[in-house]
Amino acid sequence: MRGLYIHIPFCRAKCGYCDFASAPGTPGEIDVFLGALAREASTYAGLAGKFSTLYVGGGTPSLLSPGQLEKLFFIISTLTGPLKAIAESTFEANPESLDAVKAELLMNAGVNRISMGLQASQDSLLKRLGRLATPGDFLKAFGLLRGAGFANINADLMCGLPGQTRKDFTDSIEWLLKLKPEHVSFYALEVHDGTPFSADGVEEEPDEAADMYEDGAAALGLAGFARYEISNFSRPGRESAHNLNYWEQGEYLGMGPAAASYLGGERRANTASTAAYLKAALGGDAIPLQYRETLTGKAKNAEKIMLGLRKTSGIELTDYIFIEFKDEISRLLDAGLIEKSGLRIRIKEDRLYVSNAVFREFV
Ligand code: SF4
Repeated sequence: MRGLYIHIPFCRAKCGYCDFASAPGTPGEIDVFLGALAREASTYAGLAGKFSTLYVGGGTPSLLSPGQLEKLFFIISTLTGPLKAIAESTFEANPESLDAVKAELLMNAGVNRISMGLQASQDSLLKRLGRLATPGDFLKAFGLLRGAGFANINADLMCGLPGQTRKDFTDSIEWLLKLKPEHVSFYALEVHDGTPFSADGVEEEPDEAADMYEDGAAALGLAGFARYEISNFSRPGRESAHNLNYWEQGEYLGMGPAAASYLGGERRANTASTAAYLKAALGGDAIPLQYRETLTGKAKNAEKIMLGLRKTSGIELTDYIFIEFKDEISRLLDAGLIEKSGLRIRIKEDRLYVSNAVFREFV
C-alpha cells in the first residue's frame, strides 16, 4: 500500500482563513506548473506502478481547464498506470469551477472519489469565509457529479466560524444529508498567522466548535454514518483508503509545492513556495525541502501511536511498544482520556475533540 498525493497550488481567490500553499494563478502559470510537475514525476520513475491510492488536492484542482486536466492525468499515469486499476482515486473540487465537461472528464480518467468543499449552507457564512460558491452552486455541482456517475462523494464542513450558531451547523449538516453524500469531514476553524482572518482579529471559538462537533457527530450517527477518524465520517465501506494509509504510518509520495512524503522511513516536504518549486523543477535541480527527517526508535513508535489514535478504532500495540510507553498510557487511562482492551488503546469517543491533550503525552 503506497499513496500518491499531488498538490495543485492554484485557487481562483484566496479564502480569508486559508494558510494552504495556494494562490490565484493564470492559465499560463498553470501550464508552467504542469511542466514542472512532469519533471518532478520523472524523478520518481523507479516508483512507477507501485501506488494503490491517488489524491489530487490543493488549492483547487477543479480550476484546471479540460486540456490541463488531460495533461495532469497523463503525468499521473506515468507513475500509476491506468487510474482504473487503482483502488481509490480522489480529486478535490470546488463547486464554482466544476462543470459537466470536467465531471465527465474526471470520470473517464478513472477518478472514483470526489471531495468537495461546502463548509456551510448559509450564504452569509460562506461570504464571511471568502468562499466563491453558494449553496446553490454546491447543489448544482453535486448533481453534475452524480450525473457523471460518481458514487463516492465527500463534502467538507467547518465549525466554530465567526457568527456561526450551533443551529447553523446542524442546519448545514441536515442540508447536506438531503444530498446523501457517502462521506463527510468537518473541521474547526483555525486562525493562522498571515491570513486575512488573523489580520482582522478573528478569534477561534474552541468551546462553541466543540459543541458543534458533538452535535454534528450525533446527527451523522443518526443518519447511518460511522466516525472512523476524529474529523471523518463515512457510510459503511466508504472510508478514505488514502487517508487511512496516513494514519497507519504507510508510505506515500507527495508531489507539487508543500507536498509531504513518507518513503523509506524518511519524512520530508517540498518547499511551499510555488516560485522556488517551479525554478528548481524546470531547471532540473532537486526540489528545495521545507524539512527532512528520519524517525527511528521511540520517536517513530510515538508517531505511530499518535497517528493510530486518530482512528476511532485506535491502535493495537506490540508488547514492546506497550512497555515502552506504559507511563504515558497509564496517565491517559487515569485521566479518563483513553480506554484499553488487551493491547489496543483508543481515545474515548467523547474525548476525541480534545485529542491534542492525548497527543501531547507522546510528543
Ligand atoms: S479554496 Fe481551499 S485552498 Fe483555495 S483558498 Fe480557499 S481554503 Fe484555501
